[in-house]
Amino acid sequence: MFLLLALTTTVSHAQQWHSISAHVDFIQQHEKLKYYDSNQVLIQGDECALLIDAPGEFSQTERFISKLDKQLKVPLCYLLVSHPHDDHLLGMALLQSHYPDAKLIVHQHLNDQFHLAHAQLNERLDGFAKSIALSEHRMNNLPEQEQLPWQQKIAAAKARLDKWQHLELQSPQLAINKKTTLDLGNYELNILPYAAHTDADLMVYIEQEGLLAGADMVDIQPYPGEANFSQWLRAFDDLAALDITQVLPGHGDAHSKASLNIPKVWLIAIVEHVNKHPEQSVEELVASFPTHFSPSEPGLEQRAYRVFLTAGLQRAKATQGQ
Ligand SMILES: [Zn+2]
Repeated sequence: MFLLLALTTTVSHAQQWHSISAHVDFIQQHEKLKYYDSNQVLIQGDECALLIDAPGEFSQTERFISKLDKQLKVPLCYLLVSHPHDDHLLGMALLQSHYPDAKLIVHQHLNDQFHLAHAQLNERLDGFAKSIALSEHRMNNLPEQEQLPWQQKIAAAKARLDKWQHLELQSPQLAINKKTTLDLGNYELNILPYAAHTDADLMVYIEQEGLLAGADMVDIQPYPGEANFSQWLRAFDDLAALDITQVLPGHGDAHSKASLNIPKVWLIAIVEHVNKHPEQSVEELVASFPTHFSPSEPGLEQRAYRVFLTAGLQRAKATQGQ
């Protein structure tokens, strides 16, 4: 969904590794990339490690893998995809090629539709090739003395593409359609399937630590453009019954169980607003939506909010009564 072009470099925006406990690391994207790329969670038991999600920008994924190599105390047995958005899923191709023995865990629905994941990856790689070709074409129209810096950038982008163009996603080995307990060696976690943020969401709950790694379903500012609103709200009710001391989201800072009320109230407001104003177009719904939900900080937060709100109102209108 958030396609980053081949020429984009994010070297200055390194990910932050936070140690949450002796068994869990939370790897957070730089604030500037908060809405463009995903957070990861690394969970290590006595025998096995499990990683939730991969950074979606491939240069970022490569840097992530070099750091991950150093952090692993046990073999990486499992790679878990929280849902099929490209900023969580596509980097798995690099992780699978680096850790060929790791088993891929996905929601049953993603497993059944895995050809779409292959298509997503091919589309990304085609996008790189096209953006390089376009840059090259533009460069050739520049006066000769202005071409030099572009030549270097384009050569670097081509070298990256050469490295990546044969990447493939390997098929999942574990498809989840009900609550599933996994033992990493004296360390158990629960995988909880939902159809809420997308139609193939997985959350990971670690009861003994009161930790919920819920990816985009538990973002403070979630993307509701493909939401199943009623199932998402039901999921919040399920979570209310769990012992949770810390929530690790797919985007943004770690937060508390109480903060889950923020996305919940916003999603309810979207559904209610659409139901109350069936005559309004999406544009009108955006304009008439209660303004107190809008973030006060200008810039990225407000821009993302408006895009996400529009997508949510559009989705709620399209799926009304379902
Ligand atoms: Zn997502």
